[in-house]
Amino acid sequence: MTGETLHVYFLGTAGALPTPQRNPSCIMVRRGPDTLLFDCGEGAQQQMMRARTGFTVDGVFFTHWHADHFLGVIGLIQTLSFTGRTAPLPIYGPEWVHDCVDGIRQLCRFNLKFPLEPVRMDHGSSVRYVGYEVTAFATDHGLPSVGYVLVEDPRPGRFDRESAVELGVKPGPLFGRLQRGETVCITRDGKEVDITPEEVMGPPRPGRKVVITGDTRPVHRRIKSVAVDCDLLIHDSTYDDAETNRAREVYHSTAGEAGDAARELNAGTLALVHISSRYTSTATHIRDAAKRFCGNVIAPTDLEMLEIPFRG
Ligand SMILES: [Zn+2]
Ligand SMILES: [Zn+2]
Repeated sequence: MTGETLHVYFLGTAGALPTPQRNPSCIMVRRGPDTLLFDCGEGAQQQMMRARTGFTVDGVFFTHWHADHFLGVIGLIQTLSFTGRTAPLPIYGPEWVHDCVDGIRQLCRFNLKFPLEPVRMDHGSSVRYVGYEVTAFATDHGLPSVGYVLVEDPRPGRFDRESAVELGVKPGPLFGRLQRGETVCITRDGKEVDITPEEVMGPPRPGRKVVITGDTRPVHRRIKSVAVDCDLLIHDSTYDDAETNRAREVYHSTAGEAGDAARELNAGTLALVHISSRYTSTATHIRDAAKRFCGNVIAPTDLEMLEIPFRG
């Protein structure tokens, strides 16, 4: 489908430790009728209430199995069960996803009214939705971990109204059929003539692309083929550049490294997340990232929402 809305809700932007202002990791992506969660840290349900998103979730994608990324899913599952969900809930994640979902079932001593469906995601694994897909890529966080690219199908090219009229197509229903990719038959100079969509449509235009790295050292070189030209890059930015050595030791990234990734991937906007609790301001993070990337840099606060427009 083309023209669907695409919204990203930053429900949790904290590093490993929450702060009064920031919850642990949780990002909701709404694309048309679908709602996907990427990680589900502690307190995610209350963040969903505060952001007024509702609890309808079509799939949960985990980047790795550190507690700051998954503790919130247990409460969410209980709420969904109490409120009558019967549809299966797919739970995607790297190695150990089956163990973790078994663990959740063990912990949930209530009558779970819908199935949990664990699906292991490795580098290159994809989940297909109507109009887009979500593809996993391997990250570098000292344990099995993945990030995700959500990429829409290409949109049809622009309809060239003038060419259509010049070819003899009358404005009206035939325009719509050509735009939907159908060949139409018209009468021109007393003869029947076929007009193909290729004659009146420009080249296909790329869909939108959102990249979520999860916790990781920079991996932009290995993901260039899938992540280049993303509209939004949501990147681990646990530390500012004063802590480059620390970031390397604990398999995280600095804001400057996130800036490098955004530049290399030609991102539209760079969102810095997983901010360590040691920082009370993100001004230095933004400055460090902006030194390396001249595009739009943001450090969203919890509950911020971004609408992703089409480029061009
Ligand atoms: Zn984390
Ligand atoms: Zn982690």
